[in-house]
Order: sequence, then C-alpha cells, then structure tokens
Amino acid sequence: MPQANPYPNVTVVDHPLVQHKLSILRDRKTGSKQFRELVKELAMLEAYEATRGFQLAETTVTTPITETTTQVLAGKKVAVIPILRAGLGMVEGILELIPAAKVGHVGLYRDPVTLRPVEYYCKLPEDIADRSVLIVDPMLATGGSASAAVDLLREKGARHIDLLVLIAAPEGIEAVLGHCDDVHIFTCAVDSHLNDHGYIVPGLGDAGDRIFGTL
Ligand code: URA
Repeated sequence: MPQANPYPNVTVVDHPLVQHKLSILRDRKTGSKQFRELVKELAMLEAYEATRGFQLAETTVTTPITETTTQVLAGKKVAVIPILRAGLGMVEGILELIPAAKVGHVGLYRDPVTLRPVEYYCKLPEDIADRSVLIVDPMLATGGSASAAVDLLREKGARHIDLLVLIAAPEGIEAVLGHCDDVHIFTCAVDSHLNDHGYIVPGLGDAGDRIFGTL
C-alpha cells in the first residue's frame, strides 16, 4: 500500500522496486557491500523521479531512416551536494544518471553545547548559482543538517534546491519545510518518529556506519 503523504512539498517515491530495495536496506542482516549497492540504486531511482520536471527543448535528429524532431534537456545544469559523510553513498548512482553533474561537498557537525550544526567543510562548484541543486543525505532525522546545508547553498547563490533522502522522520520534514518552504523533499519513506538518541524509528540504524562498515 502506498503511504499517505500529508506534506505538499514532499514526494514519497513509492515505486514497488524502490520499496523492495528499501526493505532489504533496512534489514540489520544486510552487509556493507549490499548496503552500498542498494543506496546507489535507490539514489538513482529517486533522482529519476526528482528530475521529472526538467525542461526540454526540441531538436532535430537524423535517424538511419529519416529526419525527426526530438527533445533534449535544456534547463539548468545539475550540482549534486552530498552532506558528509553518509551522503557520499548516494552520489555515484546519481552521476550514472546525470554524468554531466558537478559534485560539491558540505561537512557539518553538531556542536555539543548548542546542538546546532557547524560547517567544517564546504567545497562547491564555482557556478553553483546557475545550477539546479540536489542535496543528498540518506537520513532526514532532525532536519538540522539539511536546513543548514540549504542556508549555505543559498548564501552561495543557489536558488533551485531539492533534497533527496532515502528515509525521512516527520520531525525532519517539518523542520526543513518550516525553515525553507520552497525546497522540495524526495524520500522513499516517511517513518514513525525519532527516538531519544536522534535515530529514525524504524529506520535502518546509522547510514554512514552501514555504508562505510564502521559499525
Ligand atoms: N542518521 C542516521 O544515519 N540514522 C538515523 O536514524 C538518523 C540520523
């Protein structure tokens, strides 16, 4: 059954293949190699949905049979921005779909006293202001890092920003949309809630640890 989605700026990618792969991803018995492969595949399938609205222009192609009018991408170029470190796992799948995309990196940690995200690394394409931006991070938990990444990208001039996650908590969705209501969130699932340690329930545990085998 597709999940009901009460959020206007959220797309839940409920394709059966996506839901099947997500179930394997959640399983605690799934090892790092398969986990990485699934994150890559899910990111690619999600990017396919997220790029559905991309602009096209007509062109002419001569096939071996005849000349015909066809369509090619004509909108802004793409920048993929993983939030370190778990976001790295989603980059390769998206680049297979959009090989001309440039990749920027944003590193944020949570200040232990203020609990606010603090930037420790930021390297973006020079022409970020002219690109359509896909921020990627497998887990949207409190929304603190995602909101900070959106702020950072806006400061650098980015205007069209989408956020691609694999699993979102309602708390994270509400925090991001409350902070920046023109960002569109793509997710494969909206889970129940965050636990006292900030983990998504039922979730999949620590995405970074499972991707990089640092459990
Ligand atoms: N980050 C993760 O990797 N997992 C969660 O459940 C929440 C944040």
